[in-house]
Order: sequence, then structure tokens, then C-alpha cells
Amino acid sequence: MTDIVLLPGDGIGPEIVEAVCSILDAAGADLKYHTFDIGQTSYDKCGELIPAETLEAIKKYKVALKGPVTTPVGKGFRSVNVNLRLAFDLYTNLRPAYSFANISKYQNVDIVTVRENTEDLYIGEEHEIENGFEAIKRITVPATDRIIRYAFEYAKENNRKKVTCIHKANILKQTDGLFLARFREIAKEYPTIAFDDKIIDNMCMQLVMYPEKYDVLVAPNLYGDIISDLIAGLVGGLGLVPGANLGKDVAIFEAVHGSAPDIAGQGIANPIALLQAAVMMLDHMGKKEIGKKITDAILKTLNDGKALTKDLGGSATTKELTNAIIANL
Ligand code: ATP
Repeated sequence: MTDIVLLPGDGIGPEIVEAVCSILDAAGADLKYHTFDIGQTSYDKCGELIPAETLEAIKKYKVALKGPVTTPVGKGFRSVNVNLRLAFDLYTNLRPAYSFANISKYQNVDIVTVRENTEDLYIGEEHEIENGFEAIKRITVPATDRIIRYAFEYAKENNRKKVTCIHKANILKQTDGLFLARFREIAKEYPTIAFDDKIIDNMCMQLVMYPEKYDVLVAPNLYGDIISDLIAGLVGGLGLVPGANLGKDVAIFEAVHGSAPDIAGQGIANPIALLQAAVMMLDHMGKKEIGKKITDAILKTLNDGKALTKDLGGSATTKELTNAIIANL
């Protein structure tokens, strides 16, 4: 058995985590789950968004599967996700998205977004100025170099053909200018991989008009966040797309979507995004065959179209979709 930390989170988190664990077990993933609180649930219990024992467990077992969490709104609450990324230096946010027959509006998408996860505007440094506030956007050479190298290494290892850098260097000449300059420099180390760059606004239009032209994208934190939701929309919505937060020692796998409070507790959430994150986790652990078996079952279930949740245009419950995937394993 392989030990992993399970973080059910809140909102639809516990419902989809339960569904995903039952599929993992049925597929023979052979995992031992160590369940810990995080976010609103732990805040209600002990006044901490990320309790020390949760951090300890992640440090010990190194791999976590995480449901979405709500960060309480108000002063003094920094996002749980941002804090986790900083605590374990999870500098890469990897978000693969591809088209699903019968489901996706676009049938020609196969894009992996590599998002820098530790700096940019997400450092949360804001301060008051006369008549308003300012936020700091931080871009440094070490963080930029490691994410750009990760993108090219990923492309090389996964037989991808091109890496595109997203930026706004025409306006942000120093911060995004640095990101772009390092990208062009590091690209020279990878002569077999094509590279180009796009300004963020143009990139949004290009992705909607010609998604088939894009392969691996690398971006500073904010653009990576926005663009990966846009790409999720191209392939069928947030209920389908996974993400991995990767550092040198620790890896945390989660869905791209949030805690969806509007549908929480109704038993209608789509577990596929988290399930796809679990497949990424199995790959990471060297259990690729089990991951492939689950991916095939997801594709068959979506293709059959008989047990689709509301976000996919059907009326199935989480349980019905889960059972259909298990039956297709
Ligand atoms: P956050 O700021 O944490 O991303 P949010 O409210 O902006 O939260 P989500 O929680 O991701 O975004 O929800 C956006 C919309 O997508 C909501 O209408 C929600 O119901 C829907 N949604 C998100 N995840 C799922 C899912 N797994 N299944 C079905 N619908 C979902």
C-alpha cells in the first residue's frame, strides 16, 4: 500500500473526494489514506486554516490529494492554496487539458499549462497609498528560470513540440520583460523544441480561435491562473480539469475548480476533475497502468453519455456518475 494524505476540504470537496477514493479503490490503486482537515472545516474546529498536524502529515507522506477549500472572506485570511504552495515551495502548477468527444465545445484541444506558483501578484503584498491601494508584482530570476526549465523539460519528456511563453512585456517591461528574456535565453538549451511567445490578451483570443496551434504554455502566476480556466472552458468546464502543485519534495494534486458552494451538499458535483488529478498522482507515483485504466473508464463513461452530471448537460448524481465509471473500469 502507498500512503497518501487526503484533504477533503469543504463545499463539494468531501463529496467528490469520497467518490474519487471509491474509484481509486475499485481500480486497485492500493492506497492508504491519511485524512486531515484543512480550510473552513479546520478553522471551525480549531481556529487554524492549515493546522500544524496537516502540514506535518504532508511533509511526512509527500503526496496529497486535496479537495477544494474556501478561504474565509475578510482581512487577515490569506488563501489556503497560496499558503500551502509557499509552505512546501510547490513552484509548479501543472494543468493539462484535452478535448473529450461528445462533451467539449472544441474537439482540437491538447494543451498543458505550466503556471509559476510562488510569486507575481500572488505574494499578496498590498499597501495603502493616497486615494487607494497598490499591489506588488514580483518576478525574480531563480523562480522564473526554474519554471521555464520545468516547461521545457516537461515538453522534452512528454514528446511535446512547442512551448509558448505568456506575458505582457510591452507594458510591464521590467517584470514580464525579465520573464520573457529568461524564456528566450533558456529556450536555446532545447534546440529540438519550438518556442514562441504571446501577449496575454492576444493569447486569450488565439486560444478561442485556434486552440490546436498550442501545446505547452508557460506563464507567470496570474496569467497562468486565468488562462487555465479559459482552457477548461474550451474542453467542457471546470468539472473536468485537474491540476498538480509540484515542488522538489512534495506534490499536491487537486481539481482546478473551487469549492462550488452553490451546489455543495446536493450530491450533484462532478468528481471527474479531481479524479483526473488522482490519475496525475498515480503517474507521479509510478502507478501509470492504474491511471490509464481510470482514464479509459472516464472516456468511456463520457462517450456513453448516460451518466453525466448537470455541468456536463446531464442529470446524473455524483453517485451515479461514480458508479458508471467504476462499472467501466
Ligand atoms: P474559487 O474562487 O475557489 O475558484 P469560485 O466560486 O470562483 O471559487 P468554483 O467554486 O470553481 O469557483 O465554481 C464556479 C462554478 O462552477 C460554480 O457555478 C460551480 O457550481 C461550478 N462548478 C465548479 N466545480 C464543479 C464541479 N466539480 N461540478 C459541477 N459544477 C462545478
